[in-house]
Amino acid sequence: MYEVIIGLEVHVELSTDSKIWCGCSTDFGAEANTQVCPVCLGLPGTLPVLNEKALEYAVKAGLALGCEIAHFTKFDRKNYFYPDLPKAYQISQYDLPLCRNGAVEFEVNGETRRVRIARVHLEEEAGKTVHSGDNIMGSEYSLVDYNRGGIPLIEIVTEPDIRSPEEARLFMEKLRTILLYTGVSDCKMQEGSLRCDANISLRPFGEAKLGERTEVKNLNSFRALQRALEYEVRRQSALLDAGEPVERDTRHWNEQQGVTISMRSKEDAQDYRYFPDPDLVPVTLTAEQIETWRSELPELPDQKAARFMEQFGLPKYDAQVLTASKEVAAFFEATVERFGEPKTVSNWVMGEILRLIKEMEIDIEQEPIPISPEGLAELLALVSKGTISNNVGKEVLETMFKTGKSAAEIVKEQGLEQISDTGELEALVDQVIAENPGPVEDVKSGKEKAIGFLVGQVMKASRGKANPQRVNEILRQRLLGS
Ligand code: ADP
Ligand code: ZN
Ligand code: MG
Repeated sequence: MYEVIIGLEVHVELSTDSKIWCGCSTDFGAEANTQVCPVCLGLPGTLPVLNEKALEYAVKAGLALGCEIAHFTKFDRKNYFYPDLPKAYQISQYDLPLCRNGAVEFEVNGETRRVRIARVHLEEEAGKTVHSGDNIMGSEYSLVDYNRGGIPLIEIVTEPDIRSPEEARLFMEKLRTILLYTGVSDCKMQEGSLRCDANISLRPFGEAKLGERTEVKNLNSFRALQRALEYEVRRQSALLDAGEPVERDTRHWNEQQGVTISMRSKEDAQDYRYFPDPDLVPVTLTAEQIETWRSELPELPDQKAARFMEQFGLPKYDAQVLTASKEVAAFFEATVERFGEPKTVSNWVMGEILRLIKEMEIDIEQEPIPISPEGLAELLALVSKGTISNNVGKEVLETMFKTGKSAAEIVKEQGLEQISDTGELEALVDQVIAENPGPVEDVKSGKEKAIGFLVGQVMKASRGKANPQRVNEILRQRLLGS
């Protein structure tokens, strides 16, 4: 058994309309090489000019992660040769990153964990290489698409504070939630606008020195991140158990085979020959500018969760589930505004609504939740007035999701009103008493439990619409005289 040490380098594409050094569009999915110009193609004689929106978004991301923002920062060239990098260097930041010393808190098994953010820096995306085969190994040729080249990117680097593959996934989920709240990125992992490289090492428990690490590149789903790290834990443990060293290398995650494969030995900073980019002036930021951007940030997930607990008296668990998505949080709050009873609303949203969203595979970041807060409030009012039972309410909700009809319409169309009318209920009870002499005798001779059976029979006879509490009362009156 070893202690697992993980640090992540997360890349996030910023949702600016245009690229970081030129006016080209950043839209995803256009025909290859149609969103390019001499600047982002790195042609000689062109000069980059910083997109101010990219700077603003990077600062806002840093602030949302609790970072200090630099008042003076510059861009550096990171030199390496790869076909998707037309200038043969990437403009990035080396020794003076825009943001430093932040932290992200998240829950692991009901315990709060804190992962420090070492730095957030601003850089440019490379283009995209498209291989003719499934991967580079079996390909006859590769094509390059430069549409992505020059999209603004931030790199978020954590300290090696993560202690398990599951924790790495939970950290990423929380990071994504925070970034989505700020609106600086759409964080679509399947489109690559959020992805990460994971550094991982093992050490004997109690050992102070960090072990040798490997880096797994380009993990583009939460599942891939956790699985790749679980594989690395197994692989490195086996090496250490056998008394063999872990080699420092860069590895590729093969999703099909469920293994990481060594791509190359790790390069050092000096291999990149970093130096300041002479084409870009350093950036200076005033305290005033930074504070203006801070004031433009929305309420963030942790703040919202704290407010939900305070204002609505919700348990911490509820507050966290509801605020994990800003769409769900807004839906919850709007429903409470109309209906009140925050805990009731929370139960319905966390239970039924999240279940239906998942079952129907609705992407609530892209499409609206199929019912409105008014619609849910109306349904809850019908349940609380006793017009329909709780269980019928759940069925009505599902029908609302699938048909878009209102709760009242569905209840009327399907005749789902709960029967509370005493005359009608008494008739049903008498019928059930006549048909079940055995259980009736049991009740009369003191076996109270048999009442539950009779209530069930009445519910069945009413096709679920009888008010169970009233049925219970009438049965007791009839059989026990109380
Ligand atoms: P590099 O120069 O290789 O990029 P950094 O010091 O910038 O290295 O660290 C990159 C990432 O690796 C960071 O997230 C850091 O927390 C993590 N890291 C560093 N050392 C280790 C280690 N021994 N085990 C696990 N993660 C590590
Ligand atoms: Zn361009
Ligand atoms: Mg680094």
